[in-house]
Order: sequence, then structure tokens, then C-alpha cells
Amino acid sequence: MKRAVVLGGSFAGLLAARVLSDFAEEVVVVEPDRLDGGRNGTGPGAPHRGQLHALLAMGHTQLERFFPRITREMVSGGARLGQGDEVRFYVDGALKAPVADVRMLGATRPFIETHVRRRVTALGNVRIEPATGKGLLVRGGRVVGARLAAANATAAEAAGETGAAEYDIRADLVVDAMGRSSRLGSWLAAEGWSQAPVDRMRVDLGYATARFVRGSELPDTVIAHSTPGPASDYQPAVCEPGALAAVEDDAWSVVLAGYADHRPGRDRTEFLGRMRRCVEPLREVAERCEMIGEVEPFHFRESRRRRFTDLTDFPGGLVVLGDAMATVNPVYGQGLTLAALQASSLHVHLRSGASPHDPAWDYFRRAAVVVDAAWQLSTTADLAQPHVTGPYPRGYRFLRWAGDHITTASVRDSRVNQTYMDVVHMRRHPKALTGPRVLARTARVLWQG
Ligand SMILES: Cc1cc2nc3c(=O)[nH]c(=O)nc-3n(C[C@H](O)[C@H](O)[C@H](O)COP(=O)(O)OP(=O)(O)OC[C@H]3O[C@@H](n4cnc5c(N)ncnc54)[C@H](O)[C@@H]3O)c2cc1C
Repeated sequence: MKRAVVLGGSFAGLLAARVLSDFAEEVVVVEPDRLDGGRNGTGPGAPHRGQLHALLAMGHTQLERFFPRITREMVSGGARLGQGDEVRFYVDGALKAPVADVRMLGATRPFIETHVRRRVTALGNVRIEPATGKGLLVRGGRVVGARLAAANATAAEAAGETGAAEYDIRADLVVDAMGRSSRLGSWLAAEGWSQAPVDRMRVDLGYATARFVRGSELPDTVIAHSTPGPASDYQPAVCEPGALAAVEDDAWSVVLAGYADHRPGRDRTEFLGRMRRCVEPLREVAERCEMIGEVEPFHFRESRRRRFTDLTDFPGGLVVLGDAMATVNPVYGQGLTLAALQASSLHVHLRSGASPHDPAWDYFRRAAVVVDAAWQLSTTADLAQPHVTGPYPRGYRFLRWAGDHITTASVRDSRVNQTYMDVVHMRRHPKALTGPRVLARTARVLWQG
């Protein structure tokens, strides 16, 4: 390719740019937000960047694959790499059986993204264009570029009232990495193409993140993550759900989550009170560490995925990555890893010799495998919440029954927990959990009490 254009320069856009740099002479990443890095490197285009972000094991593997030695760079910049007992998962307040090979990075999302952006812009054939995508250029059944508006345009210019700030950019391939606010569907419809059908599940999740000064209080903890489970019917009755991560700048990042009427707010006293009803590491931080700044809440209303594989017509020269394709309940921490696996799918697709000018059905089919896996895992778990009313997938009763028992067994048994964590960390497909070996082992563990 002569040129590839990526609309959106956040996590998915940067990974897409990394992949495309192997196949295009020039890659242009179009991003309106000025993301200057550090923990404040968050812009209006992705306001959730400030929330605690866990990078699952598969996401970490993909990141290291695309950017060799990036973990070492981040650790020397102050991130922590948690391994073995330093990574703790709790269900209904009980610490889960250990899993030897889990490695998780303790760092904020802006910190990780800053390192990724630095590596991407160092590639030589990638540049960031401070602009906003306004539409597609379509000729002869394929996308041949995008219409942009300069990011420093006046409000009137950006609104298209004068047209002064708008310009076109030609490309062999355009990537939609504009996140959940992507307007690709209406852009395609304006050109006479069908929109991808959308699945939605309303979850009404509240998130709130705060930072604390990190001292010597928990030297052996990098990540602690606590969820309600079958014993509490997935309600915060036994223990408040939440997580903490030891992050750069000697800080703890703490997140609390709750649904519907139990959504956490920005009140500091309430936040600390909820932390004291959580698992021991969060209680310890609430008691011993000073909060830095304010509590930052976020309301996540619904999971959503666009099913591009259901379409029968789609223009060539166009692919979709990241939240623009699917955005799932963040409590399972899958979004960044999903974007990384989609970038990997794009790499496989282009390496196969596929022409970027043809409809990328092969890419969409590959990406759908990982999206379906994440969707299945998160929506099956979300349906345990009384306020989540569907849609129910086929076989839900069995999935829920098996999920409850496997979760209970995973607290006691390392082998069941190994498979469970491999699925949670997206190293294996969720169907691994309903295979005969795991079910037989689960039955044995629960039978033995
Ligand atoms: C509260 C919360 C907590 C989360 N926690 C986790 C977690 O622990 N682990 C995890 O893996 N995932 C987590 N996620 C999910 C994760 O944040 C997303 O999956 C991730 O942001 C997706 O990246 P993206 O690049 O696709 O989209 P985004 O990060 O949303 O970025 C989209 C980018 O596109 C740009 N853009 C928008 N419109 C245009 C346009 N017209 N032209 C050009 N650019 C445009 C925006 O400025 C933005 O930079 C969480 C999400 C939320 C909401």
C-alpha cells in the first residue's frame, strides 16, 4: 500500500498503525485529541482513559509481540510487573487458588498508551495528523480515502459551516478506530451501504477510580481484583467489588464498581467507606494511604457489538477495530486485549496477501471469533444481575449453571482455576470451560467439598 489512514489514535488505532506500518509506505493516524502522555494524557474523545485499566495476559503478550521489550521500558519507567502471588483474584471475598503463569502489568492506561504511542511514532513511516474524520471518500465500490477537518479549526469550521478547514486524504485502506462514538454506520448509509446489525445489552454499570500514595504497606501486591460470585448471587452482599493496581509514580489506582442503584459516585467519604467493605488489600489502602486528587466516576450504560460478518455488501478499503466494532462491560477488563487481538487478526489478513482494495471479509471473520468470545463471557456473567433483562443467548441456563459451579471450584482448585484464568485472560476460548475434562474436575472438586 502507498498509504493507510487510521481514524482514531487511541489504543486500537495505535495498534492498527503498528500493523499497517509493515504493509504501507505511509500510515497516517488521525486524532483530534492532544494526547501528551503522563497520567493526565486523557482527552474528551476517550474520557474513560482515567479509569483503572487492567491489561489481561493475552493483551500483554500481544503488546510485547508488536513492541518487543516494551514491558522492560514500562517497568523501568515505574510500572510494576505482577507475577504469581503478586496478582490476587478474589471471589465473594475468598482468595482464589494460585495460578503460576499469570503476569499482569501495574500501570495506568495513559502511561501504557504513552509508551505505545512513542513506539508507534518512532516507526518512521507513521505520523499523527491532528484532525477529525468527517466522512469517507467512496469511488467504484471501495473506500479511497477520508474527509478530515483540522483539529485546530474554529467551531464553525469544524461544524462544516464554512468548509474552510475540511480537506481530503487519499488512502488504499481506511481503518475505523474511532471508539464507541464512531459514526461509520451513518457515513456508510450516506453512501448507500448497509449498516452492520448491532447487538446491545444494557448493563447500567457505574465505575469510580481514585489514586492513593503508595508506600511500603503492601510490598507483595501488584494487582488485587475482587468480584461477587455464586455465594452472593453476584451481589455485593459479602464483599464490595473493586480492584487495585500498583502503578507508576508510586501510586495505587483503585476502582470500585456497582450496578444500577449501587453505582459509586464521586464522594470521597463514600468511596473510602466502600473500600473498607472490600477485600483486605483495598481495606489496607483505605486505612493507610492518602488519596490523591478526586474520585473520578464513569457511567457505562450498555455493551454493544456490530456484526459486520452478517452483512452481504461492504466496501473494500475499509476495516473496523477496537470499540468501534465491539465494546463490552469493562469489569472483565477485555477491551484493550480485544483491540490487540483484532490488530493481530488484521496482521494475519494482510500477511495472507489479501488486497486492501477488496472487502476484508476474512479480517472480519477472524475478528468476530475474538469478539464473540469476549461477548459470550461478559454477557453470560452480566445476565446474573437482576436488572439485566436480556437478550438471553441459546443454552443460557446450562452456561449459567456450569459457570456458577466452575467459579466455585476455581476458588479451591488450581487446575480448574488455570483454565478459568486462561479464558478470563483471553488465552483460551470460553468453550474450554465447558469441555468434559474441566466439568469432570469441577464435579470432583465440589464433591470432595
Ligand atoms: C470505565 C471503563 C473501564 C475500562 N477498563 C478496562 C480495563 O480494565 N481493561 C481493558 O482492557 N479495557 C477496559 N476498558 C475498555 C477500553 O477502555 C476500550 O476497549 C478501549 O478504550 C478501546 O480503545 P479504542 O481505541 O477502540 O477506543 P477509544 O479509546 O475510545 O478511542 C477512540 C479514539 O478515537 C478518537 N476519535 C473519535 N472520533 C473521531 C473522529 N471522528 N476522527 C478521528 N478520531 C476520532 C477519539 O478522540 C479517541 O482518541 C474500559 C472501558 C471503560 C469505559
